[in-house]
Amino acid sequence: MSTLHVRGLTKRFGDVVALDAVNLEVHSGSLTAVLGPSGCGKTTLLRLVAGFERPDGGEIAFADRVVAGPGAWVTPQRRRVGYLPQEGALFPHLDVAANVGFGLPRVERTRTRVAELLDLVELPASFATRQPHELSGGQQQRVSLARAMAPRPSVVLLDEPFSALDTALRASTGRAVARALRAAGATAVLVTHDQGEALSLADQVVVMRKGRVVQADSPQGIYDRPSDAELARFVGGATVLPGTSSGSRVSTVVGEVTSKRSHEGAVEVVIRPEQVRLGGTGVVARVEEVSYFGHEATLRLRTADGSALLARVGAGSALPEVGTEVRVRVDTDVLSYPFTAIS
Ligand code: ATP
Repeated sequence: MSTLHVRGLTKRFGDVVALDAVNLEVHSGSLTAVLGPSGCGKTTLLRLVAGFERPDGGEIAFADRVVAGPGAWVTPQRRRVGYLPQEGALFPHLDVAANVGFGLPRVERTRTRVAELLDLVELPASFATRQPHELSGGQQQRVSLARAMAPRPSVVLLDEPFSALDTALRASTGRAVARALRAAGATAVLVTHDQGEALSLADQVVVMRKGRVVQADSPQGIYDRPSDAELARFVGGATVLPGTSSGSRVSTVVGEVTSKRSHEGAVEVVIRPEQVRLGGTGVVARVEEVSYFGHEATLRLRTADGSALLARVGAGSALPEVGTEVRVRVDTDVLSYPFTAIS
C-alpha cells in the first residue's frame, strides 16, 4: 500500500472552482476522512484521485508514481484504486461470491480467496451463495468493500458509503469497514459530511470548505484545536458567542469565562454543550427544547440577550421542563478567536 500525495490540486467546472490548490497527505496503511458540507469539493477530490476527472492544476502521486499532473496521466484502470460508492455497487444478478470475485483474475477467483475477503469484512463464508437482495444494506456495503479490496488496490476510496443506512446500522457498519481497512493495511480516504463518523473512524481528518482544506489533523486535534470558530461549530455542535477579551478573561452573556488563549478586544467564544453547567449562581436562560437520548440529553437554551446555547445533561440528572428558566455557567476553559467580520 502506498502513501497518497495530493499537491496544489485544482479543478474548475466552468466558473465554479470545485478544488482550489488542495494539499493532502495520506500515510500508507492509514484512514483519512475528508469532512465538509455539501458542495465543498469532497467528491470531486475523490473522483480526481480515482482518475474519473482530470485536474486543471497540481498533481496526484501514489508513493513516487505521479498518476495525474503536468505531463502525467495514468488511466483509472491502471491506478489500482478501490472505489466504494454510496450504494448500489453490487451487480444484482450475481451472487456474493461472483460479486466479490468480479475484479479478480480468473485463477485467483477461488472459494478460499472469496472466504478470506468475506472474513475480512466480518461476514460468514456461507454468505457466498446469497444474492444481493438477501442482504441488509450494511451487509451489502461490506460485500462491496470486499470486492473493492479483492485486487489489493494501492488506495481505497469511500464516497459517503454509509449515507443510505439508518443511524444504528451506519455506526456498526462504519466500525466494521474501518476494522477491515486496518486489518488489510489499506491506505484509505473516506468522504463524509458526518463529523461523528469522521472523528470516530479516521486516523486523520481533513476538513474542507469551499474547495479548500481548512485543517488537517488528528481527530482529537480537530476537536480540541479547531482552526477557527466556524470549524468548532461544525465539529462539536458548539455555540459561538461574542465576547470581549482581556488576556485570558473573557466577558460574555453567560458571565466571565476563561479562555485557553489570550486576546485583547472583540472575540468569538466557542462553548461546547458539555461545558455548560446548570444551577448555582450562573445567568438565567430559558429552556426552549429538551432532546432526550437515554444516556444524555441536550437542552437548547435562550439567554437574556437572545443567544441560543446548547447544554448537555448526563444520565440520571433531573431534566428541566420546556419553558422554565435555569441558571447556566461555564467553568472550564473555552476556545476563543479574534473576531473577524466574515466569520
Ligand atoms: P456533496 O456532499 O453534496 O456530495 P461535495 O462536497 O462532494 O458535495 P462536489 O460534488 O465535489 O461537492 O462539488 C463541488 C462543487 O463543484 C459544487 O459546487 C458542484 O456543484 C460543482 N460540480 C461538481 N461536479 C460538477 C460537474 N460535473 N459540473 C459542474 N459542476 C460540478
